[in-house]
Amino acid sequence: MPRHYSRRQLLQWVGSAGGSAALYQVSVALGLLPLTRSVKAQVVKARGERRSVVLLGAGLCNLAITYELEKAGFDCTIIEASGRIGGRNLTVRSGDVIDEIGQPQKCEFDDAPHLYFNASVARIPAHHHLVLGYCRELGVELEVFITENRHALVQDDNAYCGRPLQMREYVADARGFMSELMSKAIDTRVFDAEFSGEDAERLSAFIRAYGDLDKQGRYKGSDRAGYASGGMTTPAIKKGTLDFSELLKSNFWRRGMHWAEAQDYAAPLMQAVGGNDKIFKAFLPHLKARIVMGAQVQTVTLKEEAVQISYNEDGQRKHITADYCFNSIPANIMNGIPNNFSKNYRGGLASFGRGKLMKIAFQMKERFWERQDIYGGISWTNQPIEQIWYPSHGINKQKGIMLGSYAWTNAHSEWFGRMTPQARLDEAIRQGTKVHPNYADYIENGVSVIWHRMNHQLGCTSSLSPEARNKYLKLLQKPEGRHYMVGDQISYQPGWQEGALSAAHHALHEFNTRVQLAKTG
Ligand SMILES: Cc1cc2nc3c(=O)[nH]c(=O)nc-3n(C[C@H](O)[C@H](O)[C@H](O)COP(=O)(O)OP(=O)(O)OC[C@H]3O[C@@H](n4cnc5c(N)ncnc54)[C@H](O)[C@@H]3O)c2cc1C
Repeated sequence: MPRHYSRRQLLQWVGSAGGSAALYQVSVALGLLPLTRSVKAQVVKARGERRSVVLLGAGLCNLAITYELEKAGFDCTIIEASGRIGGRNLTVRSGDVIDEIGQPQKCEFDDAPHLYFNASVARIPAHHHLVLGYCRELGVELEVFITENRHALVQDDNAYCGRPLQMREYVADARGFMSELMSKAIDTRVFDAEFSGEDAERLSAFIRAYGDLDKQGRYKGSDRAGYASGGMTTPAIKKGTLDFSELLKSNFWRRGMHWAEAQDYAAPLMQAVGGNDKIFKAFLPHLKARIVMGAQVQTVTLKEEAVQISYNEDGQRKHITADYCFNSIPANIMNGIPNNFSKNYRGGLASFGRGKLMKIAFQMKERFWERQDIYGGISWTNQPIEQIWYPSHGINKQKGIMLGSYAWTNAHSEWFGRMTPQARLDEAIRQGTKVHPNYADYIENGVSVIWHRMNHQLGCTSSLSPEARNKYLKLLQKPEGRHYMVGDQISYQPGWQEGALSAAHHALHEFNTRVQLAKTG
C-alpha cells in the first residue's frame, strides 16, 4: 500500500472496505460533504433473519424511510395513531374532516381541483434538495409559489388611521426615507477616514440608488412605489410620499418587510400542483408495508436485540416486536408514553416545546383580489390574523380559497383556539375587513386548522432552547438500542419537510453502520 494517500484514494479504499456508511462518515470528517445539504443514504441490503422494522407514525419522514428500507429488502410495519396517512403534511379539500380535539370540522368547499388549501406545508425552497429530489424521483409536478407580492397590502391599526397601503409604496418610501437620512447623516470626517475619494463617491451613489434619491440626496417619491395615476396613454403621475413618522409607528418594518429575504422564504419557492399532499402520497404506490391505522402507541420497550411496541387498535391492546424501530411520534407526545430509554435520552425528549400556528381558510365566490392586481402572495396586518394569503394556483378562475389568517404568534393561535370554529371565522372576517373592506360579501364558507388542538400533534412544530439543542440533539440523533428517533424534530430544520427527510437519511446512515457491523461482525 502507498504510504501517502490522496483524499480520492482514501475514499475509494474506505468505500470498498466499509461501504456507504463508512464512506459517509469519513467524507463528513474530511469536510468533503457540503453540510448545508443532506446526503441521501444508500441502505445496505438486508441479509439473513434480522430484517423486520416497525415505524411509529405515518408522516413524510417514516414514509421515506420505509421506501428506502423496502428497496433494500427490509420488512416494514407502520403504526399510525390517526385515521389518515401524512401527519403534518395536510391539504384540505371538499368533504375533509379536520381532526381537532373536541370539535371536528367538515370542510364545505366546492369539489373542484383548484379549491383546496395547504393547511401546513405551503412552500418548498430551492435548496431543499431531498424534498425536490423525491419530487423528481416520484414524479410530483411542481409549480411556482408566490410569497412576496408588492401589490399586496400592509395594514396597521397604529399607522395611517388603519388604512391599508400597497406594499410597494411602503417599501419604496421606507427605503427612500432611510437613504435620505443616511445621506444627510454621513459625517465627512468619519467618511474621509474610512473611504478614499472614489469610494466615497461610490458610496454616495449607492445610497442614492438604494433609496431612489435625487442628486441632492433627497427623497421625493419614487416610481418604485407605483403611480397615483396614468402611465399608459397619459403621463404617469408619481404618488406623494407617506408620512415617515406614521410609517415608524407601523409594525411591518420589524418583520414582514424583510421576511422574504430569509433563505427559506426567498423566491423562487415551489409547491406541488394540486396540493402539497401529493408529495407524501407519491410514496404510497411504492410501499408494501402494512400500515396499521387508528393505532395509538402505548409503550416502547427496548430489548437486547429488538424493540417491542404496544398499541391500541379497536379498543384492544396489541404488541409488535421488530429488529429495528424508527419513531417519529412528536417528542411532546412521546415524552408521555411509557418507555425504558436511558435517563439522558428521556431528558432530551422532555426538553422539547411545541409551537402554535393556525390557518383559517375561506372559499371566495369571486377572486376579487385579482381584480386589485394581487396574484398570489401575502398581505400583512398587525391584527391577530397576522397574514392574508392569496392562492398562487387557479389564477383567473371564478372561485378561490384564500387564507383569511396565518397566525405565527402563539398568543394569537391560543386566542383563536379558545373560540368555536364559527366564532373564529367571524373574528377573521371582522379583522380581514380592515384589509379588504368588502371581504365578507365574497365568503361562502370557511374552516380553521389550529395546530395545537389537532389530535396526535398538539402543536405545529417542535422547539428546543439553544441550551437544550446543544445538550440533547446530537444524543437524540443517535440510536438508543435498536430504536431511532426521527422526524423533523430531530433536525436543525424543524417545521420543514427537508428537516424530516434529513432526519430520515441521518437515521438511515446510522442504521447502515449498525447493519454493516452486524454483517462483518
Ligand atoms: C402550519 C405548518 C406549516 C408548515 N409549512 C411548511 C412549509 O411551508 N414547507 C415545508 O417543507 N414544511 C412545512 N411544514 C412542516 C412539515 O409539515 C413537517 O416538517 C413534516 O410534515 C413532518 O413530517 P414528520 O414525518 O417528521 O412528522 P409528522 O408528519 O408529524 O408525523 C408524525 C406522525 O406520528 C403520528 N403519531 C402521533 N402520536 C402517535 C402515537 N402515539 N402512536 C402512533 N402514531 C402517532 C402522527 O399522527 C403523525 O402522523 C409545516 C408544518 C406546519 C404544521
